[in-house]
Amino acid sequence: MSPKSFTCSKCSKTTNDKKLSVSCNSCKSILCGDCHGMSPTEVRVFELKTIARVVSFLCVDCKSLMAQIPNIMKQLEELTKEVHHLRLRQNMLVTEGAIQELAERTKRTNNIIIYDVPESTSDKPLQRQEHDKEECRKIITCVSKKVSCDNVKLFRLGKFQAGASPHPIKVVMKSKNDAIEILRNKTKLDKPSNIKSDQTAMQREYLKYLRDELENRTNNGEQGLTIKYIQGQPKIICKQEIKN
Ligand SMILES: [Zn+2]
Ligand SMILES: [Zn+2]
Repeated sequence: MSPKSFTCSKCSKTTNDKKLSVSCNSCKSILCGDCHGMSPTEVRVFELKTIARVVSFLCVDCKSLMAQIPNIMKQLEELTKEVHHLRLRQNMLVTEGAIQELAERTKRTNNIIIYDVPESTSDKPLQRQEHDKEECRKIITCVSKKVSCDNVKLFRLGKFQAGASPHPIKVVMKSKNDAIEILRNKTKLDKPSNIKSDQTAMQREYLKYLRDELENRTNNGEQGLTIKYIQGQPKIICKQEIKN
Protein backbone atom coordinates (compact mmCIF):
# COMPACT_ATOMS: atom_id res chain seq x y z
CA MET A 1 0.00 0.00 0.00
CA SER A 2 1.59 3.31 -1.12
CA PRO A 3 1.56 6.18 1.45
CA LYS A 4 -1.17 8.00 -0.48
CA SER A 5 -3.53 5.05 -0.77
CA PHE A 6 -6.26 4.26 1.73
CA THR A 7 -8.88 1.60 2.41
CA CYS A 8 -12.55 2.56 2.16
CA SER A 9 -14.27 1.80 5.42
CA LYS A 10 -17.46 0.70 3.63
CA CYS A 11 -16.39 -1.40 0.62
CA SER A 12 -12.84 -2.18 1.90
CA LYS A 13 -11.35 -1.33 -1.51
CA THR A 14 -7.85 0.11 -1.42
CA THR A 15 -7.46 3.13 -3.66
CA ASN A 16 -5.33 6.27 -3.96
CA ASP A 17 -8.05 8.44 -5.43
CA LYS A 18 -7.79 11.01 -2.66
CA LYS A 19 -9.61 13.60 -4.74
CA LEU A 20 -12.89 11.76 -4.53
CA SER A 21 -12.62 10.44 -1.02
CA VAL A 22 -14.21 11.97 2.03
CA SER A 23 -13.43 11.34 5.68
CA CYS A 24 -16.15 11.27 8.33
CA ASN A 25 -15.96 14.22 10.69
CA SER A 26 -17.04 12.06 13.57
CA CYS A 27 -15.32 8.65 13.35
CA LYS A 28 -12.56 9.77 10.91
CA SER A 29 -13.06 6.73 8.65
CA ILE A 30 -12.45 7.38 4.94
CA LEU A 31 -15.03 6.56 2.25
CA CYS A 32 -14.20 6.13 -1.41
CA GLY A 33 -16.00 7.99 -4.23
CA ASP A 34 -18.32 5.02 -4.88
CA CYS A 35 -19.46 4.85 -1.28
CA HIS A 36 -20.00 8.36 0.12
CA GLY A 37 -22.72 9.15 -2.41
CA MET A 38 -21.63 12.72 -3.24
CA SER A 39 -20.75 14.30 -6.55
CA PRO A 40 -17.14 15.53 -7.10
CA THR A 41 -18.42 19.11 -6.76
CA GLU A 42 -20.02 18.37 -3.42
CA VAL A 43 -16.76 16.80 -2.24
CA ARG A 44 -14.87 19.93 -3.21
CA VAL A 45 -17.35 22.09 -1.34
CA PHE A 46 -16.84 19.96 1.76
CA GLU A 47 -13.12 20.44 1.47
CA LEU A 48 -13.36 24.23 1.56
CA LYS A 49 -12.10 25.23 4.99
CA THR A 50 -14.80 27.83 5.58
CA ILE A 51 -17.51 25.29 4.79
CA ALA A 52 -15.88 22.45 6.74
CA ARG A 53 -16.02 24.59 9.85
CA VAL A 54 -19.82 24.70 9.80
CA VAL A 55 -20.92 21.64 7.80
CA SER A 56 -19.85 18.13 8.77
CA PHE A 57 -19.74 15.05 6.63
CA LEU A 58 -20.94 11.99 8.51
CA CYS A 59 -20.63 8.37 7.34
CA VAL A 60 -23.74 6.16 7.29
CA ASP A 61 -22.88 4.60 10.66
CA CYS A 62 -22.40 7.96 12.36
CA LYS A 63 -25.57 9.32 10.74
CA SER A 64 -27.63 6.45 12.11
CA LEU A 65 -26.00 6.96 15.51
CA MET A 66 -26.88 10.66 15.34
CA ALA A 67 -30.46 9.72 14.51
CA GLN A 68 -30.64 7.80 17.75
CA ILE A 69 -29.52 10.74 19.89
CA PRO A 70 -33.00 12.23 20.48
CA ASN A 71 -34.14 8.80 21.65
CA ILE A 72 -31.09 8.39 23.90
CA MET A 73 -31.66 11.87 25.32
CA LYS A 74 -35.27 10.97 26.07
CA GLN A 75 -34.22 7.78 27.81
CA LEU A 76 -31.58 9.68 29.77
CA GLU A 77 -34.19 12.20 30.85
CA GLU A 78 -36.50 9.39 32.01
CA LEU A 79 -33.65 7.68 33.89
CA THR A 80 -32.69 10.95 35.57
CA LYS A 81 -36.31 11.38 36.70
CA GLU A 82 -36.40 7.80 37.96
CA VAL A 83 -33.16 8.24 39.94
CA HIS A 84 -34.57 11.44 41.46
CA HIS A 85 -37.77 9.63 42.49
CA LEU A 86 -35.82 6.69 43.92
CA ARG A 87 -33.68 9.08 46.00
CA LEU A 88 -36.78 10.88 47.19
CA ARG A 89 -38.40 7.57 48.15
CA GLN A 90 -35.23 6.44 49.91
CA ASN A 91 -35.05 9.70 51.90
CA MET A 92 -38.72 9.37 52.81
CA LEU A 93 -38.21 5.81 54.04
CA VAL A 94 -35.19 6.77 56.15
CA THR A 95 -37.06 9.73 57.64
CA GLU A 96 -40.23 7.73 58.28
CA GLY A 97 -38.11 5.05 59.95
CA ALA A 98 -36.42 7.63 62.19
CA ILE A 99 -39.77 9.17 63.19
CA GLN A 100 -41.21 5.75 64.01
CA GLU A 101 -38.12 4.77 66.00
CA LEU A 102 -38.28 8.03 67.95
CA ALA A 103 -41.99 7.54 68.74
CA GLU A 104 -41.29 3.96 69.80
CA ARG A 105 -38.46 5.07 72.12
CA THR A 106 -40.55 7.84 73.65
CA LYS A 107 -43.36 5.36 74.30
CA ARG A 108 -40.93 3.10 76.16
CA THR A 109 -39.28 5.71 78.40
CA ASN A 110 -41.85 5.08 81.20
CA ASN A 111 -41.16 1.34 81.18
CA ILE A 112 -38.72 -0.95 82.91
CA ILE A 113 -38.24 -4.67 82.30
CA ILE A 114 -37.77 -6.99 85.29
CA TYR A 115 -36.18 -10.39 84.70
CA ASP A 116 -36.13 -13.62 86.70
CA VAL A 117 -39.30 -13.02 88.74
CA PRO A 118 -40.68 -16.51 89.51
CA GLU A 119 -44.09 -17.08 87.93
CA SER A 120 -47.11 -18.17 89.96
CA THR A 121 -48.20 -21.71 89.21
CA SER A 122 -51.89 -20.79 89.53
CA ASP A 123 -54.04 -21.49 86.48
CA LYS A 124 -56.07 -18.35 87.18
CA PRO A 125 -54.73 -15.37 85.20
CA LEU A 126 -55.96 -12.89 87.84
CA GLN A 127 -54.09 -14.68 90.62
CA ARG A 128 -50.93 -14.81 88.53
CA GLN A 129 -51.32 -11.07 87.86
CA GLU A 130 -51.70 -10.33 91.62
CA HIS A 131 -48.63 -12.45 92.35
CA ASP A 132 -46.58 -10.53 89.75
CA LYS A 133 -47.80 -7.17 91.12
CA GLU A 134 -46.70 -8.08 94.62
CA GLU A 135 -43.29 -9.39 93.49
CA CYS A 136 -42.63 -6.26 91.42
CA ARG A 137 -43.73 -4.00 94.27
CA LYS A 138 -41.19 -5.72 96.55
CA ILE A 139 -38.38 -5.30 94.03
CA ILE A 140 -39.22 -1.66 93.24
CA THR A 141 -39.51 -0.57 96.88
CA CYS A 142 -36.21 -2.30 97.58
CA VAL A 143 -34.58 -0.17 94.85
CA SER A 144 -36.17 3.18 95.73
CA LYS A 145 -38.57 4.47 98.36
CA LYS A 146 -39.36 7.52 96.23
CA VAL A 147 -41.32 5.57 93.65
CA SER A 148 -44.92 4.61 94.25
CA CYS A 149 -46.18 1.34 92.83
CA ASP A 150 -49.86 2.22 93.03
CA ASN A 151 -51.64 1.87 89.72
CA VAL A 152 -48.58 0.81 87.73
CA LYS A 153 -49.46 -1.51 84.87
CA LEU A 154 -47.47 -4.65 84.30
CA PHE A 155 -47.55 -7.70 82.10
CA ARG A 156 -45.42 -10.72 81.30
CA LEU A 157 -43.68 -10.68 77.92
CA GLY A 158 -44.71 -13.99 76.37
CA LYS A 159 -47.48 -16.51 76.86
CA PHE A 160 -47.90 -18.25 80.22
CA GLN A 161 -46.58 -21.79 80.17
CA ALA A 162 -46.51 -23.80 83.42
CA GLY A 163 -43.02 -25.01 84.23
CA ALA A 164 -41.24 -22.78 81.71
CA SER A 165 -38.53 -20.38 82.87
CA PRO A 166 -40.09 -17.06 83.97
CA HIS A 167 -40.89 -14.55 81.25
CA PRO A 168 -39.66 -10.96 81.76
CA ILE A 169 -42.21 -8.49 83.18
CA LYS A 170 -42.77 -5.13 81.54
CA VAL A 171 -43.70 -2.52 84.16
CA VAL A 172 -45.25 0.73 82.93
CA MET A 173 -44.28 3.31 85.59
CA LYS A 174 -46.36 6.41 86.13
CA SER A 175 -43.66 8.70 84.73
CA LYS A 176 -40.36 8.74 82.89
CA ASN A 177 -38.73 10.04 86.10
CA ASP A 178 -39.96 7.01 88.06
CA ALA A 179 -38.38 4.72 85.46
CA ILE A 180 -35.10 6.67 85.55
CA GLU A 181 -35.08 6.59 89.39
CA ILE A 182 -35.38 2.79 89.34
CA LEU A 183 -32.74 2.32 86.62
CA ARG A 184 -30.28 4.61 88.47
CA ASN A 185 -30.68 2.79 91.78
CA LYS A 186 -30.95 -0.79 90.58
CA THR A 187 -27.42 -1.47 91.97
CA LYS A 188 -29.16 -1.85 95.34
CA LEU A 189 -30.41 -5.23 94.13
CA ASP A 190 -28.38 -8.39 94.63
CA LYS A 191 -28.60 -8.85 90.86
CA PRO A 192 -28.83 -5.37 89.29
CA SER A 193 -28.92 -6.94 85.82
CA ASN A 194 -32.45 -8.15 86.61
CA ILE A 195 -33.76 -4.66 85.82
CA LYS A 196 -33.28 -3.16 82.37
CA SER A 197 -34.63 -0.25 80.38
CA ASP A 198 -37.28 -1.03 77.75
CA GLN A 199 -35.35 -0.84 74.50
CA THR A 200 -36.59 -0.96 70.92
CA ALA A 201 -35.49 -3.80 68.62
CA MET A 202 -33.05 -1.40 66.95
CA GLN A 203 -31.50 -0.36 70.27
CA ARG A 204 -31.10 -3.99 71.34
CA GLU A 205 -29.53 -4.93 68.01
CA TYR A 206 -27.11 -1.99 68.21
CA LEU A 207 -26.12 -2.88 71.77
CA LYS A 208 -25.44 -6.46 70.68
CA TYR A 209 -23.25 -5.14 67.87
CA LEU A 210 -21.32 -2.96 70.36
CA ARG A 211 -20.80 -5.94 72.70
CA ASP A 212 -19.39 -8.05 69.83
CA GLU A 213 -17.17 -5.13 68.82
CA LEU A 214 -15.96 -4.71 72.41
CA GLU A 215 -15.14 -8.41 72.61
CA ASN A 216 -13.23 -8.29 69.29
CA ARG A 217 -11.19 -5.26 70.30
CA THR A 218 -10.41 -6.73 73.73
CA ASN A 219 -9.34 -10.01 72.12
CA ASN A 220 -7.06 -8.00 69.83
CA GLY A 221 -5.22 -6.62 72.84
CA GLU A 222 -6.96 -3.30 73.60
CA GLN A 223 -7.29 -2.81 77.34
CA GLY A 224 -9.73 -1.11 79.69
CA LEU A 225 -12.60 -0.80 77.18
CA THR A 226 -16.20 -0.63 78.35
CA ILE A 227 -19.66 0.34 77.08
CA LYS A 228 -21.04 3.49 78.59
CA TYR A 229 -24.18 5.50 77.89
CA ILE A 230 -23.34 9.06 76.91
CA GLN A 231 -26.42 11.27 76.54
CA GLY A 232 -28.54 8.15 76.21
CA GLN A 233 -26.36 6.62 73.47
CA PRO A 234 -24.25 3.51 74.20
CA LYS A 235 -20.60 3.96 73.20
CA ILE A 236 -17.38 1.98 73.53
CA ILE A 237 -14.93 4.03 75.58
CA CYS A 238 -11.74 3.50 77.55
CA LYS A 239 -12.33 3.32 81.33
CA GLN A 240 -9.50 5.87 81.67
CA GLU A 241 -11.69 8.45 79.88
CA ILE A 242 -14.39 8.17 82.54
CA LYS A 243 -12.01 9.23 85.32
CA ASN A 244 -10.79 12.28 83.37
ZN1 LIG B 1 -15.96 2.33 -0.98
ZN1 LIG C 1 -18.38 8.11 10.71
